[in-house]
Amino acid sequence: MKIIVCVKQVPDTSGKVAVKPDGTLDRASMLTIINPDDLNAVEAALKLKDETGCEVVVVTMGPPPAERMLRELIAMGADRGVLISGREFGGSDTFATSQIIAAGIQHMGLDKDDIVMCGRQAIDGDTAQVGPQIAEKLNLPQITYAGDIEVKGDGTVIVKRMLEDGFMNIKMKTPCLITCIKELNTPRYMSTYGIFGCYEKTVDVFDYNTLKDEPLIDPNTIGLQGSPTNILISFTPPLKGAGRILEGDDKERATELAHILEKKHVI
Ligand SMILES: Cc1cc2nc3c(=O)[nH]c(=O)nc-3n(C[C@H](O)[C@H](O)[C@H](O)COP(=O)(O)OP(=O)(O)OC[C@H]3O[C@@H](n4cnc5c(N)ncnc54)[C@H](O)[C@@H]3O)c2cc1C
Repeated sequence: MKIIVCVKQVPDTSGKVAVKPDGTLDRASMLTIINPDDLNAVEAALKLKDETGCEVVVVTMGPPPAERMLRELIAMGADRGVLISGREFGGSDTFATSQIIAAGIQHMGLDKDDIVMCGRQAIDGDTAQVGPQIAEKLNLPQITYAGDIEVKGDGTVIVKRMLEDGFMNIKMKTPCLITCIKELNTPRYMSTYGIFGCYEKTVDVFDYNTLKDEPLIDPNTIGLQGSPTNILISFTPPLKGAGRILEGDDKERATELAHILEKKHVI
């Protein structure tokens, strides 16, 4: 059994957010972090590794420096990494990104008890589309918003799927894809032993030539030219003005509020 965890390196939005003149994010000048939900997916996989001894493979599509993130995840306990990286993949939107990652997973091969895990959502693109799209492209059953995962050992998993006002327990056959939310667990830290050993483990690089014979790789469905969506503009919204607290009793405040809204032609 192996668990493939898809992990995205994202800009650290608590720092400076830089936008290029063409409106796209200037990722090179921003600090990066591991997408928070993806750490929960890695932790879920590592817990299953602790229980079953399965292999955990961390996969990212990104520029060459993303290898460092994979090493950090190996230091947490993952067994190996795969970096999907190539100029042909640049400019991909969610459709093309999922196409390429799905091809990478196909290249690794999925056995009947394997599981693919993703975070629910990346904090930069914020679409939550990539996980479900990978599942569709690999024809895998999927469960999103996992709050608990139990591997039954008979080719099935039971996933607690969290909803706004409750949850559903769903049984699903493997191989399958699960997207994870932060309520699932608390990610562990890298261990000292893991940090010392992380450069001895393998990080394979899948470039265009590695994946070009995979059926999902078609120059028309990857990279900028294969992306049906494009960012036209991105910007930081202006700060809102300070709020105003109305004084007086309920009637006075209601009258004043109605007066303000009337003046603004809201009512
Ligand atoms: C409308 C639109 C247009 C865009 N146009 C462009 C463009 O023209 N050029 C451009 O460069 N980018 C573009 N992007 C950004 C790009 O599509 C996303 O960065 C990328 O596809 C991932 O989508 P997301 O961030 O929404 O991830 P989500 O779908 O929110 O991520 C969910 C999960 O999928 C997995 N995942 C996502 N991305 C990766 C990855 N790279 N590696 C491994 N796992 C991953 C992670 O587990 C993650 O938690 C666009 C995005 C949008 C929404």
